[in-house]
Amino acid sequence: MRTLDDLLAEGVAGRRVLVRADLNVPLRDGVITDDGRIRAVLPTLRALTEAGAKVVVCSHLGRPKGAPDPKYSLRPVAERLQQSLPGQVSFATDTVGESASAAVAALNNGDLVLLENLRFNPGETSKDEAERSAFAAQLAAFADVYVDDAFGAVHRKHASVYDVPKLLPHYAGGLVLREVEVLRRLTGDPERPYVVVLGGAKVSDKLGVISNLLPRVDKLLIGGGMCFTLLAASGHDVGDSLLESDQIDTCKQLLAEASEKLVLPVDVVVARDISEDAETQVVEAAGGIQAGWKGLDIGPRTVELFAEHLRQARTVFWNGPMGVFEVAPFAAGTRAVAEAVSAVNGLSVVGGGDSAAAVRTLGLDEAAFGHISTGGGASLEYLEGKTLPGLAALED
Ligand code: ADP
Ligand code: MG
Repeated sequence: MRTLDDLLAEGVAGRRVLVRADLNVPLRDGVITDDGRIRAVLPTLRALTEAGAKVVVCSHLGRPKGAPDPKYSLRPVAERLQQSLPGQVSFATDTVGESASAAVAALNNGDLVLLENLRFNPGETSKDEAERSAFAAQLAAFADVYVDDAFGAVHRKHASVYDVPKLLPHYAGGLVLREVEVLRRLTGDPERPYVVVLGGAKVSDKLGVISNLLPRVDKLLIGGGMCFTLLAASGHDVGDSLLESDQIDTCKQLLAEASEKLVLPVDVVVARDISEDAETQVVEAAGGIQAGWKGLDIGPRTVELFAEHLRQARTVFWNGPMGVFEVAPFAAGTRAVAEAVSAVNGLSVVGGGDSAAAVRTLGLDEAAFGHISTGGGASLEYLEGKTLPGLAALED
């Protein structure tokens, strides 16, 4: 795999470099609420502009339906890039149309243009090979070489990550390389005990990861919304908690095969509704949750149990919040687990958009973690052992 350093060594002054970045940041009313992904790609953009490249940056944001939608405009991100980079930064109001062509043509050495959201174009995510290739060709026409630094998108067979590298000399950016190196350490020969903490909303999203990780890990701690389907599978009442009834049988099987490795909550924080002033109670998992009540966080005894496993661990991967951390009464479990993960005596890796956001919005010290992955789905699929189309394309 050729890298950004290889490209810089070749020399990029005056060359047009198309950078696929992952600038898919959370927005609330047009304001960026977490700029982690922007900061993560700045070193790559700085290196290229300082070396005199003409830099064309593209990214997706959210899930627009293949047509322009102002809600998902990258304009706020362009403004943030203008503040964060010393050189000239412009914004194209379309992705491969007139605005983009004019902006690319106007680039001087060291300038950067951010193209509008890739997913405003149906070709970006199309399952139709020809439609994707046609869009990829339009993007590739803007550049002489291609750098992929969008780790968060490498698990997608999309035009900008899968088809463009077939058309241009391609290089892996620093962020992609760093992510792959850390994940390789997890899938290779991790120092033991190797403990994985999984949470988040849906167990169906993560069943593949669970079954793939089980043979490799020493303990798998499970919290978040997904634990209730497992608790139900072990015969406990879960009240009105998040429950995927169609997954109960699969979960029963998992429990039968790996009960000594799976660690489920022993107590949970419940409430009737999800609100800032919700009245909460702590109940024993084995005692069951009454109808009308939802499990919304792991309880204090579970926090202690998980923390004890994490204290002994030498390698930890954590994905998925332990509760509805966005709402204060249900944030304690996620905060405590995040603290325990950051204190791990060994390699600690956080993967997942919401988990990484939790680390930052709960005010934890990012530097205390071994690595915070910018790619949720991508890091999970890597750990599942799947081939990631974007990485395969870079290796070709
Ligand atoms: P990540 O992005 O880190 O992979 P997910 O997207 O899988 O995580 O899940 C994050 C979401 O799960 C959060 O929005 C959180 O509110 C929700 N969640 C966590 N615990 C629960 C719960 N007990 N009930 C409902 N939702 C939950
Ligand atoms: Mg998420």
